[in-house]
Amino acid sequence: AFLLFLFYLIEPVTSLVDAATQYQVGAAAIARIVEAERLETEDPGPVKDASGAVNRAAAVEFDEVRFRYREELPYVHHGVSFTVPGAGMTAFVGPSGAGKTTVFGLIERFYETSGGRILIDGRDIREWPLAELRASIGYVEQDAPVLSGTLRENLVFAAPDAGEDAVREVLVRARLDGLVDRLPDGLDTVVGHRGSKLSGGERQRVAIARALLRRPRLLLLDEATSQLDAVNEMALRDVVADVAREVTVLVVAHRLSTVTLADRIVVMDGGRVRAVGTHAELVERDPLYGELAATQFLASAPVVGEPRQAAGA
Ligand code: ATP
Repeated sequence: AFLLFLFYLIEPVTSLVDAATQYQVGAAAIARIVEAERLETEDPGPVKDASGAVNRAAAVEFDEVRFRYREELPYVHHGVSFTVPGAGMTAFVGPSGAGKTTVFGLIERFYETSGGRILIDGRDIREWPLAELRASIGYVEQDAPVLSGTLRENLVFAAPDAGEDAVREVLVRARLDGLVDRLPDGLDTVVGHRGSKLSGGERQRVAIARALLRRPRLLLLDEATSQLDAVNEMALRDVVADVAREVTVLVVAHRLSTVTLADRIVVMDGGRVRAVGTHAELVERDPLYGELAATQFLASAPVVGEPRQAAGA
């Protein structure tokens, strides 16, 4: 599938290789960023809802989606259905291999479904011009790369025309303005090979800031599984809550601090949606969720100011 993906990116392959050499990051990771840049040909602009109000947040619906990566492989989605209204935060949780990250790949149309439909704002994504679809989406992958240039280069990489004001705005939104003030050369500080001068939490927020600079209507965030300190954990939580006020945010969540914030949680297991609800509802209602909350989330979350025991089980 990776080779197919590269084939699909045949046009920007030269710049991809250049960029990978220059910045010394993996081609797979950089391909997604280059792709985003290549396809950002038009700003989808404000979308008006039924009442005529401007609504930038995209509504997302999966309707009985079936999918396998290749014909000889088993199905990964066996009829996945869920509805996400515009704005707010929706968390996807479930055991490893449940099909959570695949949801994002399908929304981006990196792959085609083999059954069912995916709708954005009520329109089948197969009917959207691909450039317009992808310009609407900001995708922060689990190990989204920070490149070895300056912080500014890292941010404007996928939005080269972004002005100084826009850069400053996303820095504030991603809670990185304090960091910039502390860095010796501010935005022009070289942040090191693969961003090694930044903490894990800062790297993830740089990736979010980069995605926000393209003004998406839908933000897909595949949360890193690595441990964050309490300060970074809270910063991430604040950023997501803030962004979700005007942009639809979907998160593959690995942290209790993230799921407790979610407006709705979609529990996936074995390529199906087994339950949808808030944290409090699911702890009561869904044994698998209770187990995940008690083990997966709590185990990886040095949470401050959160209930220590989430699961009723
Ligand atoms: P995790 O929490 O471990 O990331 P997940 O719920 O996000 O798991 P997916 O990444 O969506 O699960 O993967 C679902 C299934 O699809 C897994 O069995 C995985 O091995 C398989 N899979 C994922 N990507 C590919 C691919 N590119 N080609 C073939 N199979 C894949």
